[in-house]
Amino acid sequence: MAQINTRYVNLVNHETGKTYDIHTPQTYCTEHNEPLVAQYNLQKPLNKGILQNRPFNMWRYKELLPLWDDQYIVSLCEGFSPILEMKNLEKKYAFGQLLMKDEAGNPTGSFKARGLGMAVSKAYELGIRSFSIPTAGNAGSALSAYCAKGNLEAHIYMPKATPKMFQLDCKIMGATVNVIDGNISDCGKAMRADNGDAKWWDVTTLKEPFRLEGKKTMGYEIAEQLNWKLPDVIIYPTGGGTGLIGIWKAFQEMKELGWIKEIPTRMVAVQTVGCNPIVQAFNANLTSATPYEDPGVTIANGLRVPHAFGHKLILKTIYDSNGMAIDVTETEIINALNEFATNEGHFLSPEGAAVWHAAKSLRSSGWIKDNEHVVLLNTGSGYKYAENLWD
Ligand SMILES: *Cc1c(COP(=O)(O)O)cnc(C)c1O
Repeated sequence: MAQINTRYVNLVNHETGKTYDIHTPQTYCTEHNEPLVAQYNLQKPLNKGILQNRPFNMWRYKELLPLWDDQYIVSLCEGFSPILEMKNLEKKYAFGQLLMKDEAGNPTGSFKARGLGMAVSKAYELGIRSFSIPTAGNAGSALSAYCAKGNLEAHIYMPKATPKMFQLDCKIMGATVNVIDGNISDCGKAMRADNGDAKWWDVTTLKEPFRLEGKKTMGYEIAEQLNWKLPDVIIYPTGGGTGLIGIWKAFQEMKELGWIKEIPTRMVAVQTVGCNPIVQAFNANLTSATPYEDPGVTIANGLRVPHAFGHKLILKTIYDSNGMAIDVTETEIINALNEFATNEGHFLSPEGAAVWHAAKSLRSSGWIKDNEHVVLLNTGSGYKYAENLWD
């Protein structure tokens, strides 16, 4: 028997409060050029005891996800990634507690599986059968995999500078792959030119509302796995910012549900010095970011996002949480990746390595205090990036 979820009640422009019909496919608020955010009925009591017999993947939180009917779930068993103790580095750098949420074991090797698993499932429920995306790599892999699983069509636009493994990943899943001479924004332009008649559903970061809902499950998991006591600091590698915004959204929802009492967490966004629009805006105390001209190539592909559509939401999350934005160099990323591997036995994604370097900087500057509990996000596996790491 299909399970009908009735908690998902609204799609709103987060700034103006304008609402959109949830029964037809929605993209973003075209009137004000802002993302739409899903809202739920959180007044009706929901006991967290429901989680007890649930599967260990992101669908265990299905009441807080936008799908109405279980039969439309397209799943590769994404989510419920482990939170691991990094004891060696905790000791070496005198952290109060150093934890890593390791997203490397997700389908196709990154946390993009959460967002695209959710977006594809919801679009499928709404009758959509073909998809397109501009991607730095991992989002393309994930979309290709979910489309393969659901017998759906995927069109991928990827920068030429992306390691070959990402292209192979998409092709092997049967997606159409277009390699573009440019960055992810150029890929977006090329995709929109080919999709003039909107035959494909565009799942660009935050241009549809549901990748955010998939990624927010990281926030639910952090709470549940830490026994409903949130950490002091979460450090997140920020490209489009969906995970950062999503984790924070999950915390607010859980507080409203009464699942957690307080939210002490400060959210940290990490970028590269070659493409740091959020860091610049944060340092200037601004609530919106300026598009970054000519972003430098980085080993951390996922951070090469010159203009995040959700820039205001990213900055709001940082300010609301008393957080921080910080950038790292290419050398720092490589050194951090090596240090983490030799000390902890994890081959981080370069984005995850950027997070580790940021954690050390914030610890040595005293921004992270002696007894504080820190969660690092390793957003993906390092394996797909290997061709850039040989020497
Ligand atoms: C996409 C990606 C990021 C950036 O994620 P956003 O939610 O878009 O900020 C970070 N790390 C990896 C490995 C990625 O694939």
